[in-house]
Amino acid sequence: MPDVATFDWLKAQKQAEGRRQITTVLSRIVPQRLAERIAARHGLSGNMADLPDKALARLAEQLNQWTVTPVGSEGYRTAEVMLGGVDTAELDQAAMEARRVPGLFIIGEAVDITGWLGGYNFQWAWSSGWAAGQVA
Ligand SMILES: Cc1cc2nc3c(=O)[nH]c(=O)nc-3n(C[C@H](O)[C@H](O)[C@H](O)COP(=O)(O)OP(=O)(O)OC[C@H]3O[C@@H](n4cnc5c(N)ncnc54)[C@H](O)[C@@H]3O)c2cc1C
Repeated sequence: MPDVATFDWLKAQKQAEGRRQITTVLSRIVPQRLAERIAARHGLSGNMADLPDKALARLAEQLNQWTVTPVGSEGYRTAEVMLGGVDTAELDQAAMEARRVPGLFIIGEAVDITGWLGGYNFQWAWSSGWAAGQVA
């Protein structure tokens, strides 16, 4: 949360909802289990009202400066989309037909197009397939 004024936010929570548990408040910005781990790591428990501002400031600083470095991926088992494929410059963009090999149509994952997660890859596969099908 590099751009969030976390200390101000925590202090506002303390003032507005002093009887809430620190873990409950933290779980509004991170998942519940992570909130519990963070609070435990800082030795914080109990109601917001009972936590000194100093402790909240230390917590806020850690949250703002927290960096995560991925140590690896789960490999192909859970991979959802591939990078790479046939260069789009090699294809007619309306028909998906290979410029160098008329009658050869290339669509979906086989093309060097990568979509964000969220259905864009299906959309691309179906739309490019439909476009090629119209001409083929
Ligand atoms: C686990 C997972 C989850 C995903 N979730 C999403 C999602 O939620 N939303 C989204 O948009 N996209 C998702 N994707 C990506 C999406 O599935 C693909 O982008 C899309 O299916 C690509 O369609 P395609 O027709 O180009 O290729 P494919 O669906 O891979 O189809 C290629 C077909 O060709 C067949 N084939 C291969 N070689 C030969 C051969 N020599 N002869 C005959 N047939 C052959 C294969 O068996 C396969 O059926 C997900 C992918 C994975 C792996």
